[in-house]
Order: sequence, then C-alpha cells, then structure tokens
Amino acid sequence: MPPALRYFLSFADVIKAINMEVLDYDVVVLGSGIAGFKAALHAAEKTKGQRICIISKLHAMRSHSVSAEGGISGVLSPEEGKDSEDSHAFDTIKGSDYLADQDAVELLVSRAPGEIRHLEHLGVPWNRTVHGEIEERPFGGMSTPRTAFAADKTGFFMMRALYDYVSGVEGIDIFHEYYATSIVIEKGTFGGICAFRISDGEEFFFRGRSGIIATGGFSRAYGFTTTAHSSTGDGTALAFEAGLALKDMEFVQYHPTALVPSGILISEAARGEGAYLINANGERFMSRYAKERMELAPRDIISRAIMTELNEGRGFPSDRYGYAYVGLDLRHIDMEKLSKKLPMIMEMSKRMIKLDPGSEPIPVRPGTHFTMGGVHTDIDGNALYSDGRQVAGLWAVGECGCVSVHGANRLGSNSLSQCAVWGRIAGEKASEHAAKSSFHSRSHPEEILERESGRIGKLRDSSGSKNPYEIRSAMQKVMDSNFFVFKTVKGMEEGVSKLLEIKKEFSDIYVTDKGKKFNTNLVNIFEIGNLLELAHASAELALRRRESRGSHFVMEYRERDDAEWLKHSIISKRGARHEISYLPVRITRWKPQPRVY
Ligand SMILES: Cc1cc2nc3c(=O)[nH]c(=O)nc-3n(C[C@H](O)[C@H](O)[C@H](O)COP(=O)(O)OP(=O)(O)OC[C@H]3O[C@@H](n4cnc5c(N)ncnc54)[C@H](O)[C@@H]3O)c2cc1C
Repeated sequence: MPPALRYFLSFADVIKAINMEVLDYDVVVLGSGIAGFKAALHAAEKTKGQRICIISKLHAMRSHSVSAEGGISGVLSPEEGKDSEDSHAFDTIKGSDYLADQDAVELLVSRAPGEIRHLEHLGVPWNRTVHGEIEERPFGGMSTPRTAFAADKTGFFMMRALYDYVSGVEGIDIFHEYYATSIVIEKGTFGGICAFRISDGEEFFFRGRSGIIATGGFSRAYGFTTTAHSSTGDGTALAFEAGLALKDMEFVQYHPTALVPSGILISEAARGEGAYLINANGERFMSRYAKERMELAPRDIISRAIMTELNEGRGFPSDRYGYAYVGLDLRHIDMEKLSKKLPMIMEMSKRMIKLDPGSEPIPVRPGTHFTMGGVHTDIDGNALYSDGRQVAGLWAVGECGCVSVHGANRLGSNSLSQCAVWGRIAGEKASEHAAKSSFHSRSHPEEILERESGRIGKLRDSSGSKNPYEIRSAMQKVMDSNFFVFKTVKGMEEGVSKLLEIKKEFSDIYVTDKGKKFNTNLVNIFEIGNLLELAHASAELALRRRESRGSHFVMEYRERDDAEWLKHSIISKRGARHEISYLPVRITRWKPQPRVY
C-alpha cells in the first residue's frame, strides 16, 4: 500500500482494500485443545462481559487432545489415607528425575482434584467404582492408583464436554480452521495474533489485550510418533521467533508402547489394567530393569528397557511389520474387563493390524509421544524472556508451555491435569490483565497486517528447487536416528550439523499450490519451518547436556550429574543465532535422590 494512498483512506477502508480484517478481543486464545478451552472458559467466568476468541488451525474437536486415552491424575480421596498430595508430588518429582520445579508440582497436585470434579460437572462420564465413586487406575511411576479415566477415550470425553460447554458461553467466539502465522509482541507487550482463514486465505489480525498460547507439542519433528500430524509446535516456534525463551527443549518423551508399524498409541492404561511386556523368548523382561514397578515403571525407563531388548537381539524380528518389536501381552486378562476398560485398544489392534489381543500379544516399540520443553514461563504460565522478564499480557499453557512440572520425564496422566490446572490459572490471569489494559500494539493494525500479508505472499510465491516434504522426511530421519532413546555425542554432533544443512535447504523450497483456497500445502510449509526451528533448538540443547537425566540418555554420560546439570536449559533467538543459558531448579521439600524403581 503506497503511503500516499493510505493518507487519503480511513483505517477501515485500508483494511477492506487489502482484503484483511482486524478483530478486537479482550483475550485471544490460540489453540482449542484441553488447555485452550479451559483457558477461554475461565477467562469468560472471571470477568463477565469480556470478549474472548479461540483460534484453531483444525476444527476444535479435531485438536490433538481428543486422542488422549488413559486418564488424568489427581488425588481424589485423601481422607481414606491411601493417597496424599505429597505422594503425588513426590512421584512426579522423582519421575521428572528432579528437574521439575517443585513449587509448580505442589500447585499441580493441589489443584488437580478440583479440576477433575469440575470436568465431571461439565459432563465428563468418568468410570465409576461399584460404590459410585470416580474410579482411578494405576499408571506408570505413580505409587498408587490416582488416574481418573473415561474408558480409554478420556481426551475425547473431556473435549466433548468442554466443547459443548464453551460453545454456549456468551462472549466466546471459536474460529475453526484459521492458521496463525505470528504472535505480535512489541516492547515486551502482547499485541495480538496474525492468522489466515484456511478456506479462502483471508488474513486477520486478532488484536488482544491479553493472549494465551495453547498450541500443543512438537513431537512431529520425529517420524515414528504417537502424536497427531498437527503436533507441529507452531505456537512455541512463533514465540521463539518473537524473541521469547524456550525451556528444557532437549527433553522429549518416547512412549514405550507405540503400535507397530503405524506408531498409534497403545495407552499405558493397558499396563495399568495388568498387561505384561514380553520379549521373543516369552520373558517378562522388565524384571531386569525395574524389579518392583515392572511394567508400571516410568516411561523413560521402560523405553530404554525395550530398546535394550531389541538392540541385544531378544525382540521379535522385523520381517512381519517392518520394525523389530516386543509384545504387549493382554491374554491373561479377563476379556469382559478389556472390552469395558480398553475398548479402543482392542478395536485398534483388530482394525489396524488384524490382531486379536485376546489371542496374541500386541506388537509395540517406543515412539515419540510428548515434549516436556516449551515456552519458558513462570509459575502462573506467564511467558518469559531469557532474562526472566515477563511478556506483559501473554501466557503459554498446556503442552506448549514449560511451567516445569514434568522436568526430564513426564508421568503418564499428568499432562491432562497440567492442561486443566494452568488453563484455568492463565485464563483468569489473562482476563484480569485485559480488564485493566488497553490494546497494546504500537504499530497500526493495518501495518501489521500488510507486513504479514507480504511475508505470507512471498512464501506462497516460493519457487526454489527443494521439495518441502522431502525436507520434512530428512529432519524426521535425523531426529529418529540421532536424538532418540539412546543418544551418543558423535550422533548428536552429526545430527546438529545435518539439521543446519536441512534448514539451509528449507530456504530454497518450492510451493506447488499458489492459490488461496484451502492451501494446505502452504500450511504444511509453515509447520515444517516451525518444526525445523524447534528440532534444531532441541538438538543443540541435547548436545550440550553432558549427563543422563530422565528421557535424555547419553551413552558416554550414563549418570545423572546434579553437581553440574541440576538446571533448566534456556534457549532464545538473537537474529539467526541461538543464545543458551541455564537456570536453577526450584527445590522446595524433596532433595534429589537416586532414582530407583
Ligand atoms: C495418543 C496420545 C494419548 C495421550 N493420552 C494422555 C492421557 O491419557 N493423559 C495425559 O495426561 N496425557 C496424555 N497425552 C498427552 C496429552 O494428550 C497432550 O499433552 C495434551 O492433550 C495437549 O493438550 P493441549 O491443549 O496443550 O494441546 P492440543 O490438544 O495439542 O491442541 C493444540 C491446539 O492448538 C491449535 N494450533 C496449533 N497450531 C496452530 C496454529 N498455527 N494456528 C492455529 N491453531 C493452532 C490446534 O488446532 C489445537 O487446537 C497423550 C498424548 C498422545 C499423543
């Protein structure tokens, strides 16, 4: 837009002329998973009359959270004396290999039970005991059953209840299938989110007094993964691009039981209900790695056990499914119990690989499942710069935020509680902030939109020589081989330099679809660019960390080294350069001890 022309046009004319729109909201929530829905709902409840929007690149009900299976953790009956919040906190901290911030863990365990009950009031049909109480199942690393569940479709039922409820709350607008391309932050203050509507390419600036990023994890940087294709870490990458700090990005969780060959999750709930892990000799091999907890040890330990069995030749051979694997054996469990408590797993095995778990073990091996690292936040989920300064008006919650309750290894079922607890906290804080703030972006909205439109147009016009999908495969191959369950220094060095080459190639891609309508090619390219940034950050931090802690296991440094490495990794961008620093872990009551199960 020539400046002279702008002089004669009103703000609204300019926006109309360039086919863009500015929409004003008190609170802009990016992401419609469990964390995003909870945030929007509690923002709306906190201050009546505010306008809140939820932006999602998918239809909200296709958000990754719907695929959560096994359950949500929380101590529901402490008065019976069988469980306590302290026990939940200790299990979580030990599970995290002492990298979790303990004040945040204490907040998690104290708020989780209330959130489970709140979800029940919204309509989640929790499984019940014969006495009518919410039933809780055992989960890995938890010293007693404390995982509430709705069969093995917990995420679906939570999302269904939240979506139904939020859809009826006055003041909340949901924008399904809008793809966010940048977070506007000026002078340390949140200004809004730029996004385009996928159906027609029309661009929008969602101007907000407060913003909440809830865009999930980045496990799709890997090829063999249990996560949805949409888990591309967009919000984390946009925050990184905007100068914010990321924390503990080297800690990636590999779930022990991904179905072979697709990678679809076979929930830990199966082991919670009594399934065994067996090798090709029929041995329950976990007795060699975690004598007491066996199949209910934490995920990092079981993944290493499985990979050791496979590497030492005791797995089932790869000729049947293309991957070597171990067996998840449910044959000794009552079929009626299985069909009541694990219906999806039973169906999935039958449908996907034509295998009846009642007569044959399910073939499984570790797959990338969850990213412990994310946007560096304080205990309220407020996004931070690397020097600890808050970004005014911006929160990051759910899997994309690193408030640091999972540390170096998340315990199963703690993510849904994290989403619920910090969804509420951030929603309320964002609403309070919006109530006393004006719109912040210093640049005129039309300038922001023009700039963004130019950037998107330039990317759409790319006609380089490299196929972006081949670039994605190359990145995933590096992550699957060089940054998986067992890492080596040499492998990581090679991996980092390969990722740098791949990033260079990405600047020479071609975009096949030049149109604006349903340009999923362009969406994929944004996602691949985001994944590459995050894979690179994760790889660099992994290479630096010369110890083994939680999910991060380095063959040359097999022990945890608290003297040197009991600290969070912080990475931020200065132009094209990465700046890395470290931050002490907040320890309240639980001093680090050897981690034995
Ligand atoms: C198969 C599976 C089963 C699991 N089961 C459990 C379980 O039983 N218990 C447990 O505690 N944890 C479980 N987890 C982990 C847990 O499901 C996730 O960590 C959690 O659901 C993440 O929720 P979220 O709200 O942070 O993000 P998500 O549910 O991933 O939602 C992200 C949202 O962001 C939106 N978004 C992303 N990028 C953009 C963009 N550029 N523009 C616009 N919108 C965007 C998406 O559309 C989506 O709405 C499981 C994980 C997997 C893979």
